[in-house]
Amino acid sequence: MTILTKTLGGAAILSALGLATLTTPPTRDAKAQNAATAPELVGKRWFNTPQNQPLTLAARRGKVTVVEFWTFGCSNCRANLPAYARWQKKFAAQDVAIIGVHTPETDYERDPKNVEKFLREQNITYPVVTDESGQNWRRWNQQYWPTVYLIDKVGRVRHQHIGELQGEEASVTKYIETLVKEPAPTAKSPNRRTKVSKITKTDAEWKAELSPAAYNVLRQKGTERPYSNDAKNPQHGVYTCAGCGQELFASDAKFDSGTGWPSFYQPIEADAVEEEVDGKFFMKRTEILCARCEGHLGHVFNDGPAPTGLRYCMNGVALKFEAKE
Ligand SMILES: [Zn+2]
Repeated sequence: MTILTKTLGGAAILSALGLATLTTPPTRDAKAQNAATAPELVGKRWFNTPQNQPLTLAARRGKVTVVEFWTFGCSNCRANLPAYARWQKKFAAQDVAIIGVHTPETDYERDPKNVEKFLREQNITYPVVTDESGQNWRRWNQQYWPTVYLIDKVGRVRHQHIGELQGEEASVTKYIETLVKEPAPTAKSPNRRTKVSKITKTDAEWKAELSPAAYNVLRQKGTERPYSNDAKNPQHGVYTCAGCGQELFASDAKFDSGTGWPSFYQPIEADAVEEEVDGKFFMKRTEILCARCEGHLGHVFNDGPAPTGLRYCMNGVALKFEAKE
């Protein structure tokens, strides 16, 4: 493990790592458009969330998030804790979330009981996910404890700070303030990420390759009968689009809504699906489309469970289940 002392300035390290692009001040210019999408957080053991349910960055869409990698045995990580607590308090009204990713170095740090004890003793109340196997660490190409990332409302990494914040807390705080002031994205906003590359086919092609039931839902916005395709899958896995194979929902986000349609509280990534308002006046609903093939999947409603409060009500025939891990 590389412990950074405060004699190493964040900027110097960044340029040494060739990460200088991440120091670009927050603006809505081309550079911001090209900022990297933050990898989704994974891991099942969470502290300080409702019922210890996992949080995802996808569910944070429209809000600013601070992600900090740390481990409680690292003195440089501990030195940053008061700053995180100050941000938590300062930006509470703007719904900025601090999320700690606890990637341990030693077996003692790996024991979740010790993490929990440390959180309690230090009165840390923001969400923390344990990263025992270093899965998040690898997904984020992480190298140093501690590292702080600022994620904008569209889910992009807009700033990275490596090492202790001492002396630079004010400038990072300014970044957060700037990101908070940016407009929240709407479904068709130009700020929208374009990671998903579209596929288009003719109606005849879709008709030839989809089952009649899948064609009716995906291409003609039909609705299947309830209880026709809501199988309970005991395994962990991913629900993909029956039209194009794009990953749409993780099985962990599936819940029993009692409607007879497969229901999820969030998509696997914010940009896996697209939203479109359909209907008029009282009948307005938000339609959910596959972001890749623009196939109709279902609708989203605001009567879902924690942590998002959303219910993605899907047609099972538009989804395929793939068991994973
Ligand atoms: Zn699709």
